[in-house]
Amino acid sequence: MMRIVIKIGTSTLAHPTGLLNVRLVEQLCKTISDIKNAGHEVIVVSSGAIGMGVGKLGLLQRPKDIPTKQAAAAVGQCELMYTYDKLFGEYNHTVAQLLITGEDVENETRHQNFSNTLNRLLELGAIPIINENDTVATHEIVIGDNDTLAAIVAQSIGADRLILLSDIDGLYTADPHTDPTAKLISRIEKIDDSVRALGGSSASSQGTGGMVTKLRAAEICMACGCDMVIANGRDPSNLYDILDGKSVGTTFKGVTL
Ligand code: GLU
Repeated sequence: MMRIVIKIGTSTLAHPTGLLNVRLVEQLCKTISDIKNAGHEVIVVSSGAIGMGVGKLGLLQRPKDIPTKQAAAAVGQCELMYTYDKLFGEYNHTVAQLLITGEDVENETRHQNFSNTLNRLLELGAIPIINENDTVATHEIVIGDNDTLAAIVAQSIGADRLILLSDIDGLYTADPHTDPTAKLISRIEKIDDSVRALGGSSASSQGTGGMVTKLRAAEICMACGCDMVIANGRDPSNLYDILDGKSVGTTFKGVTL
């Protein structure tokens, strides 16, 4: 049985309107519940607070100023947890909300407390759902993106695998949006400058990260012996295939410690 961290990006959770992609989120929660029922330990890192707050507040676009972003996050985080509580509850699973900032990772005592709570929640059979505490995280203390946050979580609790669900199938040899000859790379053993160059500077319109933050997350994971997979979140059955050892998306192989 594995300890798995699953990161769900805003572009997977929400339509471009900022409102919840109900069908997809229902399928995801059902699949994750089943994976948990099969005996795996699952931790979810979920983005979407700001995106869903934008939808709920009826803002015309994702805000750029910090107070509006934080206000949107405060509204959206409620909506997010309400949704997870309801959907995981349908399969008899209990969710737990953990909101952290960079300070909680940098300060050794706080980091230890966080890891202890996570481990205890897993022992108690809950599904921890983690996000950055966007309502208080300003640039001095921010982790900044949930790919990095998810990698830090995987590292903190010795996860076997981190799965980043995104709106892209994985890492390509070129930008697949503009280059039809771009090919999906199924496996990376080592991240060097040539791999980093493939990350470009891509970011989705709704989320924060892009391939750059995913490669940074892969470096954190690989160094602590955790495998990381980037896969398309639009097809939740990818999660089953990954756990069955099938080749899905791009796998970054953790070093053998
Ligand atoms: N914490 C942000 C949110 O919930 C997302 C950060 C990210 O997408 O990487 O909206």
